[in-house]
Amino acid sequence: MFSELLHFLFPETCVCCDEVLDEKEKHICSLCLNDLPILDFDDSSTFKKLAGRIKLHQAHSFLKFNKSGKAQKIIHQIKYKGNAALGVFVGNLFSQHIIEKGIDIGFDCLIPVPLHPKRLQSRGYNQAETIAIGFAEAKGIFLDNSLLKTKEALSQIRKNRMSRLENMKDCFDIYSSHSLHNKHVAIIDDVITTGATLEACCFCLEKAGVEKITVLSLAIA
Ligand SMILES: [Zn+2]
Repeated sequence: MFSELLHFLFPETCVCCDEVLDEKEKHICSLCLNDLPILDFDDSSTFKKLAGRIKLHQAHSFLKFNKSGKAQKIIHQIKYKGNAALGVFVGNLFSQHIIEKGIDIGFDCLIPVPLHPKRLQSRGYNQAETIAIGFAEAKGIFLDNSLLKTKEALSQIRKNRMSRLENMKDCFDIYSSHSLHNKHVAIIDDVITTGATLEACCFCLEKAGVEKITVLSLAIA
């Protein structure tokens, strides 16, 4: 009764199209859910963006990120509007999609790309971690937070790929590398643009003796 009243007074709207949701819908209306820019089954853009410098077992993204598109709206909510629950929700959709595709989810743990403690404090949560929580939920995957961001990178603008990586490489560290030694580790982020952040994280994991790396990203630009 109370929730019905709340729904009537403050109707929840779809994060993609602003239409009022019905009571069965959560965060995204069914029309938008059916129209998410889901990448093709055999899309290899994520792998290609990162391959070459790090040894990847596999790399997959869920959505295609376009300016003003649905993925952009979802990520904006998760990142800047405090909508952590949406992160968990789409993380869950992502894992269902990955499982349906028959992709190897036999990793030993799932690590969210970390935020610098200062950024974490101002945002209140790590958006990549909300996605990781939703992703892990479905299959009881173990979450690990031993990757840390110890430094903020300098501005990446006007840097080429090589110097972007150099700039990022010292920003991450592992809390306890013995726990990751010889493991298959999956790392997850909200969106891949240049790939420099994930590349630096993978570099750090490699140094810690991780045997196999899977990269997962909710969206790719
Ligand atoms: Zn909608």
